[in-house]
Amino acid sequence: LSQLFRPLDMLGWVYRTIRQGVIDMGAMFDLIDTDAEIVDVPGAPPLAVTQGSVRFENVRFGYEDDRKILKGIDIEVPAGATVAVVGPSGAGKSTLARLLFRFYDLKSGRITIDGQDISQVTQDSLRAAIGIVPQDTVLFNDTVGYNIAYGREGSTHDDIRAAAQGAAIGDFIESLPDGYETRVGERGLKLSGGEKQRVAIARTLLKNPPILILDEATSALDSRTESEIQATLEQIERGRTTIVIAHRLSTVVNADQIIVLEAGEVAERGTHAELLRKNGLYAEMWTRQANEAEEALAAE
Ligand code: ATP
Repeated sequence: LSQLFRPLDMLGWVYRTIRQGVIDMGAMFDLIDTDAEIVDVPGAPPLAVTQGSVRFENVRFGYEDDRKILKGIDIEVPAGATVAVVGPSGAGKSTLARLLFRFYDLKSGRITIDGQDISQVTQDSLRAAIGIVPQDTVLFNDTVGYNIAYGREGSTHDDIRAAAQGAAIGDFIESLPDGYETRVGERGLKLSGGEKQRVAIARTLLKNPPILILDEATSALDSRTESEIQATLEQIERGRTTIVIAHRLSTVVNADQIIVLEAGEVAERGTHAELLRKNGLYAEMWTRQANEAEEALAAE
């Protein structure tokens, strides 16, 4: 009978290996949709990150030729700064992140990191420089230690523990009977949304990238978990260039700059205070979310 199951095991192994090859790109991306034609230019050098500044220069892009999604976007993220991208659903926020990771090439314009056009450097070096904390973290049916270590090859147990502590999930893991050997995923311990996000944060801490993309979860975490995760994220943003794709405005108040994207164009940009004074789209979104939050509180 065991002979009979072997091919199935094998299939699982192949599947897992493939998944391991792609997981790093983040669960936020639908990989099947990505353009297979992204190739390194012959003799492409690796990206050399000196400061970690990111620039989108007149970026135009559409998934299909006849539908423009981004219509000439200019964004500058100085090294170490945090820029939040907000805007209505479908405005193109996640598309910006996909383009920075070079899942697609631009129709025109360019994206640079420390002055180097990302389409002219190796994809491996580009992706090694960028960490993503996705909306939904995919966990392997393996130990929690393995799931964290996935952030970097050859990490030691001490590295993994330090990353887990940095993501504020270390004490929780150590309280489990099997500690870091606890199996998680579909066939193991089910982690909550917040715990999964912390595993993703720990992975990113192990990877230690100079550039971060945070894709805020749309799924509701309870407000206490949310503010705790927010505090952890603010710590890992320190010293890194960060792009936050935000769905809740409460989390962008402290960003160095907020970009309001609407139908593929930058409608407004500025700090939270500047945008409120402007009394435009951002101010309108802010008032609406504040009212919704009040109503939700009243209903509790
Ligand atoms: P949300 O806040 O809902 O996540 P968003 O601002 O992040 O939205 P994007 O995911 O960037 O929006 O999508 C922008 C537009 O591009 C949408 O109209 C979407 O339908 C379209 N789009 C996204 N991915 C693809 C794809 N792989 N192929 C074709 N169109 C796509």
